[in-house]
Amino acid sequence: MKFARLYFTPMDISLVIPLYNEAESLPELCAWIKRVLDAQGYSYEIILVDDGSNDNSWAVIQSLKNDIPEISGIRFRRNYGKSAALNVGFEAAQGDVVITMDADLQDSPDEIPVLFQRIKEENLDVISGWKKKRYDPLTKTIPTKLFNAVTRKMSGIHNLHDFNCGLKAYKNEVVKSIEVYGEMHRYIPVLAKWAGFTQIAEQVVEHRARKYGTTKFGFSRFVNGFLDLLSIFFVGKFAKRPMHFFGTMGMLSFLGGLAITIWLIVDKLTDISKGLAYRNVTDQPLFYIALVAIIVGFQLFLTGFIAELVSRNAPERNHYHIGDKV
Ligand code: UDP
Ligand code: MG
Repeated sequence: MKFARLYFTPMDISLVIPLYNEAESLPELCAWIKRVLDAQGYSYEIILVDDGSNDNSWAVIQSLKNDIPEISGIRFRRNYGKSAALNVGFEAAQGDVVITMDADLQDSPDEIPVLFQRIKEENLDVISGWKKKRYDPLTKTIPTKLFNAVTRKMSGIHNLHDFNCGLKAYKNEVVKSIEVYGEMHRYIPVLAKWAGFTQIAEQVVEHRARKYGTTKFGFSRFVNGFLDLLSIFFVGKFAKRPMHFFGTMGMLSFLGGLAITIWLIVDKLTDISKGLAYRNVTDQPLFYIALVAIIVGFQLFLTGFIAELVSRNAPERNHYHIGDKV
């Protein structure tokens, strides 16, 4: 990877911009980016990933490329989602610093130089934007607060207020080490942290009201977002050793059930031996609870075994993120 990059002229910034039906915004956005970056004298590329738009976004990209040679366009045949678009953009990015932003002009290109300089000067891995003052409806801002609080708690990244901000900057190495799929774009800082990139900071950014078009995510973003959070944690923690999770749970459940059953039997036998009145084991509700615990425990155990077999077959089972070598 590093070797291949020697052949490219070094480039400061790759902008990765996923877009779905944003034709009206694109000319303004690209002109603005060009204005800001040319003024700073950076070398850069603008990677526009058209996520299967069905307006004329792609035609607009093609015509923009004639005026702005730094633009490169990638087009999906159908709509795969923002995460997929980012992932493809990340694969293509050559710049030292990779900056993502939304195409709807809600993020301001004026923030780019600050993000770039902070990554360079503070030697950061990730800077996440924080839309401190938002121009979104309340139905979005309130669940977002809750979502961020949960993510902070679960990820242990306590210094971020706004995980889902589209405007973020990364060291090139970070985006090459992570894989964004499903709706994981909300958790890229978490993915980066799991991959061993811990220098994560935040930058307050300006947020603007959407000028053209409408939002592409409905209320389902919160449900899906939460489920994705669970998968991230499970995969991050246990993907390489599923038996440790399922085996522990299964064993606890199985042993608990077994202990209760044995106790019920012993209790009955001692009552008999003392000549006391006794209850049949099968007459006691506790016995059925114990039975369920044994069955569930056994199934969890089997799930662990099967998951272990699956992960043994995963091609990336021995894929680790190596930071440095001497
Ligand atoms: N987007 C995308 N694919 C999708 C949905 C959205 O590439 O399936 C892009 C969209 O064009 C925009 C960015 O992702 O550039 C953020 O989307 P949006 O502005 O609708 O989200 P919001 O600002 O409401 O969170
Ligand atoms: Mg938006």
